[in-house]
Amino acid sequence: MTDATRISVFDGHNDTLTQIRNASGDERRTFLRRSDRGHIDLPRAREGGLGGGFFAIFTSSPEWDRTPRPMVDAEGAEIPGSRVVHLPPRLPRRRALAYTLSVMSDLFRLEEESGGDMKVVRNAAELRKCLAEGTFAAALHIEGVEAIDTRLEALDVFHAAGLRSLGPVWSRPNAFAHGVPFDFPRGPDTGPGLTAAGKRLVRRCNQLGVVVDLSHLNEAGFWDVSRISDAPLVATHSCAWTLASSPRNLTDAQLDAIASSGGIVGINFHRGFLRSDGDATAPTPLTEIVRHARYVADRIGVEHVGLGSDFDGANMPSDLQDVTRLPVLLDALRTAGFSEGDLRAIAHENWVRVLEETWFG
Ligand SMILES: [Zn+2]
Repeated sequence: MTDATRISVFDGHNDTLTQIRNASGDERRTFLRRSDRGHIDLPRAREGGLGGGFFAIFTSSPEWDRTPRPMVDAEGAEIPGSRVVHLPPRLPRRRALAYTLSVMSDLFRLEEESGGDMKVVRNAAELRKCLAEGTFAAALHIEGVEAIDTRLEALDVFHAAGLRSLGPVWSRPNAFAHGVPFDFPRGPDTGPGLTAAGKRLVRRCNQLGVVVDLSHLNEAGFWDVSRISDAPLVATHSCAWTLASSPRNLTDAQLDAIASSGGIVGINFHRGFLRSDGDATAPTPLTEIVRHARYVADRIGVEHVGLGSDFDGANMPSDLQDVTRLPVLLDALRTAGFSEGDLRAIAHENWVRVLEETWFG
């Protein structure tokens, strides 16, 4: 395919900033230079046609034991193919705030060092211009807002600095909401809804024009956001629960609500959320992504489908080793019957439409 016909991708979620910041020893790399480690850097993004995306800041929990254990039935017998992963405890705000500021500064320094090749975008007009001119567009996202106080003062400051999206929770609980665990199989109805502070957070995000990301939020929290928010509903990196019963995925009722709000689902590339057996390690063809995109498009319309790779934070399908392979994914979508117009919608146009509405232009 020639560059003239190449479709540029805007992606709903990556963990590249935190992966680069946390890397040590042989894993060290930088975003502006090509590496064979991780999934995204600027040279490889260019090669794969990634025009930009949401860059998440995620403060990890120290000493989290993420070892899956099988579920047991009423008699105490292990259920084959099932797993339970205990969530880490709440994170101290001071740790999250210090880490978030550090990684935010990483992004602003990258923008500066890129000499104009990369831009932190703050509105849809900037995003459109970047995609048209080939400037890499980074939208700033915080995944799990332990760094924000319940008076929301830090939210105002982060927004002024350039924050344009947040997930109230990563999966561990915090002062705002409760997230879903990584158990399998399980539905997303796993606990209480938003706290009073969580409801204030959603209203303030609406006023400021900040995306409230529903990925990782449990079902009660999802419905609270859907009642409170006047912005399109957005799940930046999730899949269809009917095809893969991970609580990180969206039920049909949730998909329907996203569609009626004019929102979008960024299809996650993680094997464990794609596969019907939930196995995050088994070899997986990238047609599993196509299967979820097709399901969501058929149920709620292609105008509500986007991509939410989870690059640098998840186990990719076998033939999608890194961002350079995005054209192979677009070809697989083409082969599955999506038109060129559908492909442009999925690749970036749907994201641009939803962000324009959420960000007020
Ligand atoms: Zn995530």
